[in-house]
Amino acid sequence: MVTSEPTTAPSAMPSTRLPERAAVIDLDAIRHNVAVIRKVAEPARVMAVVKADGYGHGAVPVARAALAAGASWLGVAHISEALALRAAGIDAPILAWLHTPDSNFSAAVAAGIDLGCSGWELEAIVAAAREQERPARVHLKIDTGLGRNGVTADRWEAVVGEAVDYQDEGLLRVAGVFSHLAVADEPERPETDAQLDAFREAVALAEDAGCDLDVRHIANSPAIFSRPDAHFDLVRAGISIYGLSPFADQTSADLRLRPAMTLRATLSQAKRVPAEQGVSYGLTYRTASAGALGLVPLGYADGVPRTSDRGPVRIAGRTYPVAGRVAMDQIVVDLGASADPAELAGAEAVLFGSGADGGPTADDWARATGTINYEIVTRISQRVPRVYVGEGA
Ligand SMILES: *Cc1c(COP(=O)(O)O)cnc(C)c1O
Repeated sequence: MVTSEPTTAPSAMPSTRLPERAAVIDLDAIRHNVAVIRKVAEPARVMAVVKADGYGHGAVPVARAALAAGASWLGVAHISEALALRAAGIDAPILAWLHTPDSNFSAAVAAGIDLGCSGWELEAIVAAAREQERPARVHLKIDTGLGRNGVTADRWEAVVGEAVDYQDEGLLRVAGVFSHLAVADEPERPETDAQLDAFREAVALAEDAGCDLDVRHIANSPAIFSRPDAHFDLVRAGISIYGLSPFADQTSADLRLRPAMTLRATLSQAKRVPAEQGVSYGLTYRTASAGALGLVPLGYADGVPRTSDRGPVRIAGRTYPVAGRVAMDQIVVDLGASADPAELAGAEAVLFGSGADGGPTADDWARATGTINYEIVTRISQRVPRVYVGEGA
């Protein structure tokens, strides 16, 4: 802090010099969450899943914080996401698992990226290995019931056989076998048992066929917390490293996690209005009495869901629902009859954050939107500057 800084800012201005609109990412929270997950998962190691720009938090800073806190692997969907991590100088093991025939397998092999393989990619991956004169590393994916990518059970033996043949030729190494769970967030459902049975069977077949696996992995965040029998060698932690709960009936605090993202803005305007003042497009909201409206410069172009119903906004220690429709650039809150607009000029408006101060959370916005916390943080657009706080920021 520069002590000679001018002190002419109004007292309601936030004391830290944040941009007027920001998603503040607490890297200490990321580190804390990774430490919690390591403890729950041990002796299994932790893959920090940083796809989708780190669920909206920023893939590179999150990856660095997660690795510093003891994560051993990084996971992404696309090769392009893995290459961006390498370009940032991150040399940790990275797995990318979602490809198309147009994916750049050569670039992945050249960059030492492990590739999830659902069978159909084998030829292309081997061609890339030949081209790069370097064996590819693959994790064969078995579809144990989710019905997305992965080898189906009836094709597993054949795909393993092909992969082992290529391995014997020195063109690839089968470094892992993995799968993905469908209902681990509902621990009472029986399908997870069936998926784990199918997984163990697929692993055994691969090992019998000559795969010397570094890692077997199937657990996502819900399974990390609810299914110790799913941990195997490695767990893939996504939403939990960001401090959010994967369960409908358990909060972040219940899991000892700390939400890492705070979405906030400086109030654009606060003004006095009469009773029956219509608010925002469609005039779907009218003030009940004379009072004040506050204008928050975050809208659906910033990722605030237009479909949300009365999402919460914290201003000066009180939480208000959004009044009227979410617009592209802005939302309005009804500050009520007792608010003094002059006092609130330039105040901070928080849509969601850690919840530690009783303020709203991404879970609250998920409820107001009929979606899940994953979508709330991931959809915050690049229009909103990310600001990093905590160690390593
Ligand atoms: C996104 C993803 C994860 C992480 O899931 P979370 O529920 O966020 O922990 C793990 N594995 C795969 C294959 C994924 O696509």
